Amino acid sequence: MAEKSGLFFPVDPGPSAKIGGMVGTNCSGTNAVRYGTMKDWVINLTVVLADGTIIKTKRRPRKTSAGYNLNSLFVGSEGTLGLVTEITLKLAVVPQEQSVAVVTFPSIRDAASAAAGVMRAGVQVAAMEIMDEVQMKVVNLSGSTAPRKWKELPTLFFKFSGTKASVKDNIQMVGAIAKKHKGGDFEFAKDAQEQKMLWSARKESLWSMLSMRKEGNEVWSTDVAVPFSRLADIIEISKKEMDDLGLFASILGHIGDGNFHESILYDSRVKGEKEKVERCVKNMVNRALEMEGTCTVRTSFSLILLLSTNTSRANMELESAKRKPFSKKSVPIPSA
Ligand SMILES: Cc1cc2nc3c(=O)[nH]c(=O)nc-3n(C[C@H](O)[C@H](O)[C@H](O)COP(=O)(O)OP(=O)(O)OC[C@H]3O[C@@H](n4cnc5c(N)ncnc54)[C@H](O)[C@@H]3O)c2cc1C
Repeated sequence: MAEKSGLFFPVDPGPSAKIGGMVGTNCSGTNAVRYGTMKDWVINLTVVLADGTIIKTKRRPRKTSAGYNLNSLFVGSEGTLGLVTEITLKLAVVPQEQSVAVVTFPSIRDAASAAAGVMRAGVQVAAMEIMDEVQMKVVNLSGSTAPRKWKELPTLFFKFSGTKASVKDNIQMVGAIAKKHKGGDFEFAKDAQEQKMLWSARKESLWSMLSMRKEGNEVWSTDVAVPFSRLADIIEISKKEMDDLGLFASILGHIGDGNFHESILYDSRVKGEKEKVERCVKNMVNRALEMEGTCTVRTSFSLILLLSTNTSRANMELESAKRKPFSKKSVPIPSA
């Protein structure tokens, strides 16, 4: 569709995400560093409230100052305020020029410091992702970019897009910042096909990692984000603690959003293994929160711990008060 219309939808979370769920979570993803999150692309929503009332959150114009900002109330409300039945979205113009490159670093701290440097310098990258040496090895082993093989070192993936001149300019600026943090030379994807393969290797990385698990292994996948000023600190300490587990584990993430994930494979049949992974994950989450960061948890981690640490009681009370006018029972809509 993009090729024909010259337009595309830039919000890009997990490969299985559906539009309703993307609204429900105000999702982000690889392109959020440049294009923002779902809330930035919703023009209006048709919502059925708990009592059957149907509302439209907004009309077409961009101007939003008249009345409540209902788009922002419903986007990210996790289905608790109403059922979204129609969604009108904006599309972005396909950029004139696009380039994809990777650059390696001697340590994960150097890679994270370079990423923070890029963001703090205000360089307009289209996407910036991090993968540690284990994750790069997984990409090579999976063969998803064969015959090309990548260096198995902490790596930043960049997408540059814009006019020819702005892309050239951004590459130069990022190159200089990377050098300052001991980065190697850029390796560019040689054509559109290789760009696609490289980016899909990043997108499919969780599945590539899962395909390597031994029989009986489970994966613990974590998700934290911190301010750029603390990114290098948290990623260095967390990686060390994760490596010390002695398990098959890797780091990757949307580093341009100050975000990274750990994926740790463990065997709950081995005495104490799950508990040590849980300790490591809790330490990372607590560290992120102490650094004024945030977390989401995708596995069986205690919801109570998450709620009591990630949001304050006052936040939770405000959220539940907000829900009351929409439904006396506040029944959440089940996930699709
Ligand atoms: C490998 C992988 C990578 C991912 N990376 C990212 C990422 O980078 N950023 C990110 O944000 N997410 C990411 N995700 C998570 C996921 O893709 C997103 O959260 C997505 O937005 C949810 O879509 P879904 O269709 O799975 O929604 P669901 O899980 O089905 O629903 C999400 C919420 O929306 C509500 N909902 C669904 N439909 C409606 C509706 N019609 N009306 C009202 N409420 C509704 C549900 O009740 C639920 O509360 C990733 C997932 C995977 C597996």
